[in-house]
Amino acid sequence: MAENNNNNNKDGEYENYCYMCKRSEKDAGPFIDLPGGMHICRECMQKSFDSFSNLNFLDLSKMPNINMSQFMPFGDIPESQKVKKKKKKEDKPEEEKKLSIKDIPAPHKIKAMLDEYVVGQEYAKKVMSVAVYNHYKRVLSDGADDIEIEKSNMLMLGPTGCGKTYLVKTIAKLLDVPLAITDATTLTEAGYIGDDVESILSKLLAVAGNDVEKAETGIVFIDEIDKIAKKKETRSRDVSGESVQQGLLKIIEGAEIDVPVGAGSKNAMTPIVTMDTKNILFICGGAFPDLDEIIKRRLNKQSSMGFNADLKDKYDNEKDIFKEATTEDLREFGMIPEFIGRLPMMFSLTALDKDMYIRILKEPKNAILKQYQKLLALDEVKLEFDDSAYEAIAEEAMKRETGARALRSIIEKFMLDIMYEIPRDDSIGSVVITGDYIAGKGSPVIKLRGMD
Ligand code: ADP
Repeated sequence: MAENNNNNNKDGEYENYCYMCKRSEKDAGPFIDLPGGMHICRECMQKSFDSFSNLNFLDLSKMPNINMSQFMPFGDIPESQKVKKKKKKEDKPEEEKKLSIKDIPAPHKIKAMLDEYVVGQEYAKKVMSVAVYNHYKRVLSDGADDIEIEKSNMLMLGPTGCGKTYLVKTIAKLLDVPLAITDATTLTEAGYIGDDVESILSKLLAVAGNDVEKAETGIVFIDEIDKIAKKKETRSRDVSGESVQQGLLKIIEGAEIDVPVGAGSKNAMTPIVTMDTKNILFICGGAFPDLDEIIKRRLNKQSSMGFNADLKDKYDNEKDIFKEATTEDLREFGMIPEFIGRLPMMFSLTALDKDMYIRILKEPKNAILKQYQKLLALDEVKLEFDDSAYEAIAEEAMKRETGARALRSIIEKFMLDIMYEIPRDDSIGSVVITGDYIAGKGSPVIKLRGMD
């Protein structure tokens, strides 16, 4: 018999008894193994916890995998004694069953759904649709044969506010999978102040309502990944860059990780569950400032050499230079090769231009202006924007250089007055917002009811 029953049961000839109630495992149900060869039944363990009045939130019946070393300050429990997670797929009610291969829409359908929300970024949407499709097909065919499909983890490059997070959020919502968004700058190597890398999984678990199985097929988005690039200056100990990349390798690749339940930090009273990350889709995103210089330098060097020598500044004005990025460029930027290697789907998003800003205002299903229109329609007031208004909002947003994020603050500022003033006058039937009004040079065009 296994060494975890080693106390007086070396050869499996004696039965184990609960240390507290003295019942046998046959009578009391599966035991929790304690250090020192002791065993305790779940009922007694629950009673002990209940006796601490402020600990009664710990309901053991709801915690399938408990690493007792977090509760018992006796030292680590040998690997063989850890309570292993048991998947209870067959117990799940019918409607809770996961997506099946048939349920995953084909890439072109995923892309069509994304089109309803995300403007432009055609290439990114296409790559993402295929990657997500492949990923979930891989998850669902898990173990079907010997051919192992590689994970489709992704790396998105693109300036701030161009839709990276929005794209991931939209896809997670469409597929109804849990999504955890985290910022690489908050991550540190274990033992330093900040969140260690497992905190990402705690977040995902929390989003999945502590359902381990659900979390294990979720999506993790790590934003600002460029901020953990290796520092060029290596005299000081690098705790936030390279070592965090190292720390992420295992999780991204796929491993069984002990994860504290609850997004808070690990401490002696935090329950732990084991999560397998092999089916979690990791998407990293970053603005990678100055990567454009690295790419341009490489491309200009290449093109100015050899027979087909070109102008040596040919790429200097290339607008969409990120699409030329290679893993070599990212290495030079400071990402370690092992890390980039685990994110095989690398693609870029384009910076927004004026036309795209205007489309973002007008087109998405839940566009912010549409939301205001709906709100005022409830008061039977028609809200309209003329072309000059769209232009003015887009121009103002471009000045701020924070991408489409600026749109919301600009709109909210001028809509405040509208939302305040209009409902107080019942006779107002429609409002037209003009460019002059946005620029602070005029007022909106107001029409009274019955004037159309
Ligand atoms: P980042 O690239 O910095 O992650 P976000 O995805 O957070 O940017 O974008 C900020 C907001 O701007 C989003 O919540 C979304 O409303 C809007 N947005 C950005 N890009 C687009 C886009 N291409 N289509 C529609 N909305 C967009």
